[in-house]
Amino acid sequence: MSIQPHTPVHLDAVVVGAGFAGLYMLHALRDRLGLKATVFEAADDVGGTWYWNRYPGARCDIDSYDYSFSFSDEIQQEWTWSEKYAAQPEIMKYLQFVADKLKLRPDINFETRVVSSTYDEHARRWVIRTDRGHTVVCKYYISGAGTLSNAADPAFKGKHSFKGEVYSTSAWPHEPVDFTGKTVGIIGTGASAIQAIPLIAQQAKHLTVFQRTPNYTVPLQNCRETEEEVKAIKANYAEIRKQSKAALAGVAFPSMRTSMFDDTPEQVQQHLEYCWNAGGFSLWLGAYGDVLTDEKASNIVAEFVRSKIRQRVTDPKTAEKLCPRYLYGTKRQPCETRYYETYNRDNVALVDVKADPIQQITEDGIDLESGQSVHFDCLIYATGFDAFTGPLYKLGVKGRGGATLQAHWRTGVRTNLGLMSHGFPNFFMITGPQSPSVLFNMPLGIEQHVEWIADAIRYMEDNGLEAIEPALEEEVEWDKLVADIANATLLPRTDTWYTGSNIPGKPRKFLVYLGGGAAYKQTCDEVARNGYTGFVFESDPSLSANVA
Ligand code: NAP
Repeated sequence: MSIQPHTPVHLDAVVVGAGFAGLYMLHALRDRLGLKATVFEAADDVGGTWYWNRYPGARCDIDSYDYSFSFSDEIQQEWTWSEKYAAQPEIMKYLQFVADKLKLRPDINFETRVVSSTYDEHARRWVIRTDRGHTVVCKYYISGAGTLSNAADPAFKGKHSFKGEVYSTSAWPHEPVDFTGKTVGIIGTGASAIQAIPLIAQQAKHLTVFQRTPNYTVPLQNCRETEEEVKAIKANYAEIRKQSKAALAGVAFPSMRTSMFDDTPEQVQQHLEYCWNAGGFSLWLGAYGDVLTDEKASNIVAEFVRSKIRQRVTDPKTAEKLCPRYLYGTKRQPCETRYYETYNRDNVALVDVKADPIQQITEDGIDLESGQSVHFDCLIYATGFDAFTGPLYKLGVKGRGGATLQAHWRTGVRTNLGLMSHGFPNFFMITGPQSPSVLFNMPLGIEQHVEWIADAIRYMEDNGLEAIEPALEEEVEWDKLVADIANATLLPRTDTWYTGSNIPGKPRKFLVYLGGGAAYKQTCDEVARNGYTGFVFESDPSLSANVA
């Protein structure tokens, strides 16, 4: 329900966020479990990450038909995607459609940010406060705040002295930004910048890209969906979903072969070429099973991508600057559309800020350590996110004994199943750290978490239980399992936002469960089937009625 500020309200559940996660969680709590629930959302509309990241070129890079809810056949049959990889405005429209169809908006409090969340141990209730003066006392508290919703804020000297227009890809204005006739500087060359740069370059008078680390970027190969394709997908949706859910990263790649070393070098090149042309994540997650585990296999793909960059970028010096050197596959592979050709334009310059670091931001540009100054009218930050923990810490979560999540995770995140953490009863994290989250198809991963959480809540309600919390030993076990699986791959060897190393002072730890979505779901289901093994319950219904 939508609630009034300044009068404490007692509800069954509070959900944070109205993106994919919050929308489905609200539907599950309200319409399947019959609970009284409300959502707090900082934006003035639904959409989550797709509300904020509306920079030019923003689009998904998993097929639209896969990157959508599967829980309602009615929704998936009614909705028609126009492109293979939907652009941000279409994904926003889709989420608005879902919210309206399920009549979710009346239970969402927009333009309202949670500022503190405190567990009252005596009452076994969470007390949630917002920046608009709401106080809600609830039994269940669920974060759908997302993994990439808290922008990193690199501490550039002179940051606030810039007098021109300043933009951030992660909080792009709602009105279209017109760069015509303007000079622009953009810091960062991650997935967001790689989508935005080609379009900004077409419009701006001049664009300077400040690159610290080049990425292995592969053509998206976006196209319109034909009527026949749409018909075929809709007719075959059940099977498509089954295959996606069973696949390692929640997307089925028929091109996947077990080992690169079962093929001859010629066959390998042919297969890599095939995956390159197939586009999206085919090369990264759909070529060979050992690309992410075998350094030699990773190096072969790396060289393959570098050869593509050299073919596409006409100036050999610029091409070399764009050639990555880190282990292929260990960073999230961005997907591009004419990204490399952009550097062949006369109005685009590439500055390597690893070789010549940014010394300071000035009132009209950037000074480099070499003494060179670059001037522009508009500055764009595409500098990434404080992933996983950033959005959770912002909620001001205090569990048993007033302990903060920050304190509990001081030496590194520790959870059970990436869903809950010891000391924070009844606090659930949708796509939390140490779950498959960002290395699984997000909407499908979200569905699995929402359904597990809803089932756990139903179990508690049916059995008169007041609190659920992971046992400490189980959390330690899960932590070890997540680390062991990650360490069997190459991924932890590179500094990325997966390890938290893009944020100064953040403990370095690989924060994604890499065992695959199917194995993960099986574990979660087994835990539930066996009466929530590894979780501790408290039951004392007499305490539930009297909460201050
Ligand atoms: P990102 O991948 O973390 O990229 C941030 C960029 O900023 C990097 O190039 C980084 O360089 C640079 N940077 C950060 N601090 C800097 C500093 N002090 N000086 C110079 N450069 C600096 O962030 P993102 O591009 O926003 O993408 C984050 C994630 O969001 C993606 O990996 C993806 O999962 C998701 N995303 C998804 C989509 C999609 O679904 N289509 C689109 C966009 C983003 P270093 O690499 O050297 O640190």
